[in-house]
Amino acid sequence: MSTLAISVKDLSKKYGDRVAVSHANFEVPLGTVCGFVGPNGSGKTTTMRMLLGLISPTGGTGTILGEPINHPERYLNRVGAMIEGPAFYPALSGAENLRVLATLGGYETGQVQSLLERVGLGDRGDSKYKTYSLGMKQRLGIAAALLPNPQLLMLDEPTNGLDPAGIQEIRELLRSLASQGITVFISSHLLSEIEMISDSLVMLRKGKVIFAGKTQDLLERQQPTIIAKCLNTQDLPKLIQIAQSAGHSGSTIGEEAHILASADWAATLNTLAFQAGITLSQISPVLPSLEETFFEMTGDDE
Ligand code: ATP
Repeated sequence: MSTLAISVKDLSKKYGDRVAVSHANFEVPLGTVCGFVGPNGSGKTTTMRMLLGLISPTGGTGTILGEPINHPERYLNRVGAMIEGPAFYPALSGAENLRVLATLGGYETGQVQSLLERVGLGDRGDSKYKTYSLGMKQRLGIAAALLPNPQLLMLDEPTNGLDPAGIQEIRELLRSLASQGITVFISSHLLSEIEMISDSLVMLRKGKVIFAGKTQDLLERQQPTIIAKCLNTQDLPKLIQIAQSAGHSGSTIGEEAHILASADWAATLNTLAFQAGITLSQISPVLPSLEETFFEMTGDDE
């Protein structure tokens, strides 16, 4: 049996002359959470639709749970999906909506209450859908995706538009589903919203996979930086030299010196600058986000 939930090779999709996805290659091991990240329009939804057999690729191949994506009937009964926002009847309650979907899909209707509890809506199942907050709507969407008791859950932007508390709730829910053995493939246009729960990341930009690997590998490349400003900007090159003599590389960005060093070296830098007759008007240690780290690594700061 395959140990991969998703595997794609050179997967491509063109709409007329427009290339939406170009030669995508990545793998998602079973039992992991994989973040699928890219700006709006980078091809995430198109990729997910191909993986679910909703549209055909114009090139390349892929497998889901060991079965080829041109035979979705072989794996769809083991996959739960929420693509482009869940569609529910506003005037029906959450529980009624799930019962309708269960009946239509041929799933067990007796599991509705336990699914509502699983997504944290146990006591709101009888409220009308139209009274739900955005976060509750997303959680009901995830409950619907869980109806087939899936091995793989594919969610397109489930955190989109949520406030920080709502994002946190979805994160916790997905982590708990992953701890029950479900593989989670979740897209977001903001890496910061999902980096914490993702074991691995696939980053998409303009239809191309620009990073596919462990989140940890990106984290290890995060370089703490001290950002310093001189009262007299002409002192910037001298400040960089001082840092370099002490073994820390640095560069000038705008009117700031960016020096690769951890926060505890800031006091030393301040002292060395003072001894050299340089007055610093600002000195702040920062840890770049994974997004910044990635673009520093690739030199792509678009
Ligand atoms: P978003 O988060 O905004 O949905 P995305 O990363 O999911 O973005 P896609 O929706 O996959 O991106 O779109 C990728 C590209 O393909 C875009 O340039 C989009 O305009 C184009 N595209 C998507 N669907 C179609 C379609 N049915 N016909 C023509 N072009 C399309």
